[in-house]
Amino acid sequence: MHAPKKVVLVFLPSESGVDGARSLYGAKETNPLFNYFNRSIRTIIKQSQFAIPPLSLMILSSLDVPGVEQSICDMRFDPFPFHQTWDLVGISVQTGMAKQAFALADKLRSAGITVVLGGAHVTLFADSCKPHADVLVLGEADDLWKEVLADLAANSLKPRYQSSSFPDLGLSRPVSKRSLIKSRYFTTNLIQTGRGCQYNCDFCNVHLLNGRNLRRRAIADVVSEVRRFQEHDKRIFFFVDDSINANPHYAEELFRLLTPLKIRWFGQATTTLGQQHTLLETFARSGCQALLVGIESIETKSRSAHKKNQNKAGELAGAIKNIRAAGISLYGSFIYGLDGDTLDTPAAILDFIDETRLDVPGINILRPTPGTQVFERLREEGRLLFDPLDITAYRYSFGQEMLYKPKNMTLDAFIESYSTLTRQLFSTKNAVIRGIAAPRAKSAVMLFNLFYAHLYRLSRHDLRCQLETGEKEKTILPYAK
Ligand code: SF4
Repeated sequence: MHAPKKVVLVFLPSESGVDGARSLYGAKETNPLFNYFNRSIRTIIKQSQFAIPPLSLMILSSLDVPGVEQSICDMRFDPFPFHQTWDLVGISVQTGMAKQAFALADKLRSAGITVVLGGAHVTLFADSCKPHADVLVLGEADDLWKEVLADLAANSLKPRYQSSSFPDLGLSRPVSKRSLIKSRYFTTNLIQTGRGCQYNCDFCNVHLLNGRNLRRRAIADVVSEVRRFQEHDKRIFFFVDDSINANPHYAEELFRLLTPLKIRWFGQATTTLGQQHTLLETFARSGCQALLVGIESIETKSRSAHKKNQNKAGELAGAIKNIRAAGISLYGSFIYGLDGDTLDTPAAILDFIDETRLDVPGINILRPTPGTQVFERLREEGRLLFDPLDITAYRYSFGQEMLYKPKNMTLDAFIESYSTLTRQLFSTKNAVIRGIAAPRAKSAVMLFNLFYAHLYRLSRHDLRCQLETGEKEKTILPYAK
């Protein structure tokens, strides 16, 4: 009998942001206290369970194929295990981290290890990935990965795996957590009930990657997964769907059935939930602590410029108040700098946050991700600040970098007003006030706001550096430092 083939799935950290914020432009902050605090925050984010597991790799590593053994290497915590022997390394590639992924792939291949690249970046830009891989997997890999592993076991790997349709999520595909080290993560209870989005926001690629039709898992499968996960980890559940209320009938039935399990959960929803009264009550009863809602813009012109049409600007405040009144805390995500925004927009955002008493406001800068409609439009309009052919320059950061010229103001004026807005919103005092006022998850709300007071300071520092240096070239930062 042959020894099983060893496969490791690799998750790469981003340079800054959710995986541990740090300066992208490197210029030293003069305040030693800030530098000390920044190092501490990075350590806290990295080591004290703020990380969540890579769900896509959890799903793939749950597939059992005879003759193959799979594990996960989360490079937010561990270096790649070069000392072990691998028959196949699978790397999940996101556009913001493509350079790091290619560097690792090249190193592995030069050591004679077979590399598979998959993920969003590979699906959208397969040709640019080809020179760095032995095998490419395009699209959602739930079915394809089984084929790859079976071919590996039979020594008959093909150079490319792609299917003409999306996987049927109605089929039972139990997710296992056996490859995870539980203590590393904020929670291991990640649940996805479906994929796809019927909307068409121009800055988003969900509808490109997962299609316009909502595909849902069977409710019974989700309930049994929650039961199984609960036995292994009593911490909070995170429903990772982009809009957990997108199909209200499905959500109503699911969370009604979950209520007796007495879980506590976070999720992401549209503000429409504020008008879905029965569902809102069901969410609150089933243990919903907090939701992230994508407000994006309160400017009607910006909403229509970026095709964010699913809810109207005038209905947002009422909906948010209803959700908070039901006892659910809200993280409201804004984007400032959209094409209908002016220098008056920050004052309107401040008023809106005051009126609705949003628990955690997130003020983002638009990141034109290559492959999205907005990237193409900004390219045509000559407004991208970095080489459009260097798609990896359009990396993720925590509001630390402008990637394009705003439409209705100069870059300097935008950065000045963005910095003033975040300075006004995020302070230790505001963090305490918001934590006390939050309907639920008070300590999490306070902690998020405290982190944000620090992280937005980092954002102001980096934006100032970007302006002063006019930097056009980017270097990739090694994660460990
Ligand atoms: S931003 Fe949200 S609502 Fe808009 S297309 Fe993306 S997933 Fe859908």
